[in-house]
Amino acid sequence: MRKKRILVTGGAGFLGSHICEKLVNEGHYVYCLDNFFTGKKENIAHLLSNDCFSLLDRDICLPIDLEVQEIYNLACPASPYHYQLDPIQTLKTSVWGAMHMLELAKKNNAKVLQASTSEVYGDPQVHPQEESYWGNVNPIGRRSCYDEGKRCAETLFFDFRRAYRIPIKVVRIFNTFGPRMQPNDGRVVSNFIVQALKNQPLTIYGDGKQTRSFCYVDDLIEGIFKMMDTDSSITGPINLGNPLEYRIIDLAEIILKLTGSKSPIISLPLPSDDPKKRKPNIELAKKNLKWQPTKKLEEGLKETIEYFAQILEEDASLSSGT
Ligand code: NAD
Ligand code: UDP
Repeated sequence: MRKKRILVTGGAGFLGSHICEKLVNEGHYVYCLDNFFTGKKENIAHLLSNDCFSLLDRDICLPIDLEVQEIYNLACPASPYHYQLDPIQTLKTSVWGAMHMLELAKKNNAKVLQASTSEVYGDPQVHPQEESYWGNVNPIGRRSCYDEGKRCAETLFFDFRRAYRIPIKVVRIFNTFGPRMQPNDGRVVSNFIVQALKNQPLTIYGDGKQTRSFCYVDDLIEGIFKMMDTDSSITGPINLGNPLEYRIIDLAEIILKLTGSKSPIISLPLPSDDPKKRKPNIELAKKNLKWQPTKKLEEGLKETIEYFAQILEEDASLSSGT
């Protein structure tokens, strides 16, 4: 296998750190670019001393010049709580970040993969969502900085492809969970597990009848690598996610059962524009990538619960000084 120089933006985040780790293990030279807005040094601590790993502590909103053969563009907060804290920065990160990565790909004739999202379908009126659906997105709401930022990034990817023949790969990622999510991330799986482990109330937004489809991180990362390995005729967009659909209230019950927690479930207001249902059609991924997820929700949750139990224990012993 040829050793490549590869840039992973958002490389200290949940998904990015798994990508960095796999690439280093495969023998590549990895640049991990991150501004640590939601990413954590702990996620990449085990890679820092590796000669084939280099951390670039910087913002993707700044242009960058490097010699690379591949780029995985993941820099962008993914949790609604975090991406709405500074919506203008979120939009810049998606759009300027995509522009800078495409310019870099153009200069190097590098393959560039964009981590797009199921949010490009907004609050979908087609179910399950297939790639040909153009979506139902509010352009001026609280989620728009993320949804429209990611949609604009997709536009840039395809315009660069048409103008300069850049080898692009666009994957639309559906809700993914697993180890290396942060306890304060704010997404539903991490919130419910942390609340259950701390015997705090599980916070359901709205009536909990809205649905999502949850993919375990190892499955998702495998799909991303398979996409990067395709020939240049395959650009995407291609959905990556688990097509099994759950109501949020049912997810809460499963997590209570798996943790053995006695936490009550409470209802909080539903945030505006929260999609009512979401489930990927993954026929394209099955056909073009020979990929589909294999990890059962409960199995993935058990591993994620173990991970959070361990970091909560470490945090507790740090704060008690033991
Ligand atoms: P994450 O928040 O854990 O990771 C994002 C990383 O990007 C963090 O390390 C953060 O510090 C970094 N970052 C944010 N703004 C930056 C900036 N301006 N400059 C440099 N670095 C910056 O989220 P994640 O779940 O790992 O998501 C990674 C990517 O995948 C995101 O682009 C997200 O939109 C996409 N995605 C994820 C999911 C999912 O369920 N995990 C679903 C759809 C799309
Ligand atoms: N949600 C919830 N309680 C929480 C966090 C999220 O009920 O503590 C709901 C949220 O309203 C949404 C779903 O769970 O309907 C998934 O939310 P998440 O933030 O994980 O991702 P989204 O798919 O909305 O981007």
